[in-house]
Amino acid sequence: MNNYGLSKTCTRLVGTAAIAMFTMASMIMNNAAYAASAKDNVPSGRTPVKIVDGQYPASYFPNTELLGADEMRITALGTGMPNQTRAAVSISYLVELGNGDKFIFDIGSGAMSNLFSLRPDFSKLDKVFASHLHVDHVGDFMGLHIGGWLSGRYNPIHLYGPTGSTPELGTKAFVEGMQKGYAWDLATRSGALPDKGAQVVVHEFDYKQENEVVYQQNGVTIRSWPAIHSLDGSVSYGLEWKGLKYVFGGDTYPNRWYTEYAKNADVASHECFLPPKALAEYFGWDLGQATYVSTRIHTEPQAFGKVMSAVKPRLAVGYHSVQSPGNNAAITDGVRKTYDGPLALARDLMVINVTKEIIKVRMATVDEYVLPPDVTQAYKDAPRSDKKHPSKWTMDGKWKGYTPPPMPKK
Ligand SMILES: [Zn+2]
Ligand SMILES: [Zn+2]
Repeated sequence: MNNYGLSKTCTRLVGTAAIAMFTMASMIMNNAAYAASAKDNVPSGRTPVKIVDGQYPASYFPNTELLGADEMRITALGTGMPNQTRAAVSISYLVELGNGDKFIFDIGSGAMSNLFSLRPDFSKLDKVFASHLHVDHVGDFMGLHIGGWLSGRYNPIHLYGPTGSTPELGTKAFVEGMQKGYAWDLATRSGALPDKGAQVVVHEFDYKQENEVVYQQNGVTIRSWPAIHSLDGSVSYGLEWKGLKYVFGGDTYPNRWYTEYAKNADVASHECFLPPKALAEYFGWDLGQATYVSTRIHTEPQAFGKVMSAVKPRLAVGYHSVQSPGNNAAITDGVRKTYDGPLALARDLMVINVTKEIIKVRMATVDEYVLPPDVTQAYKDAPRSDKKHPSKWTMDGKWKGYTPPPMPKK
């Protein structure tokens, strides 16, 4: 294993395929091939350039690389547990395509800070696909909704997610509850921020549907199938575009749908939970409870390996753990008992570039402190209603001992 959790097998595979690919690719790719992704509104001071001859920098520096017209970039925004840490926040993946489209799969608690560290064009981050409604998968949805609205999104945000076994357990009810809960927040900002950005459009679909389309636009097809996790109403997704396929497993016990519909994935991600003993030690649980959670509610490493041996993706990605050195060793040992193919154990801000020919795994290099991304003129021009103000009663409570400076002239 190297520092990035990429197995030797994968390094070898990537290296061999890379030589053939880059000779060909450098002849084919030209500026036009990169034109679509160049449309991103990037922060001032950053100029994305195309990658020549597959010579990716060792680290991914956000907003410095143009995606190829047939290239996909997958960034693990969160790979940890519900009790997020600075090293591993809760689950989220960002998928960016060479046509400029961007998709977020799950947005667990804490994922927003990693997303923000990439200084993305928030006007394009308007599609979230929720695997299920655990807080470690949707806890930062309102953070993205409001934070993205503050940072460049001037259109509605779309949340795709499953029904539950009853209406109140479905995605629609989740959003309605969130909007009620954040009524005060939304009221303070509406009028000051672009009106349309306040809206959430929910696309709720039947959790039982098997490999049915939940999204299809601009050459991108996203399908869902059921997962087995806690209660009914957990799903997995497969994204297909230009002959590339990324699968996001969500949370699940090994199931027959995943092993069938994840087939032909270039990158198949699936939870790879701590094995029982390591989980018991981590949480201080007894071994019985840890065994139940690790092997009945989730997928422990040997089971993950068996799933990947059945699916045979170009790269298997495991996530949903806390990566201490001891835990990592326990996870890797388990996986390698049942799977010897290409493997990456995802860490927060791991970046995977995918083309037909290569798969490149790196870590992103980001600053602890980043400025908000620049917003577009369209964001500045988007209609805003009149701003609301506190009542006269509240305003009369202003302390007379302070006078604010005059407002600047327009
Ligand atoms: Zn869960
Ligand atoms: Zn989870």
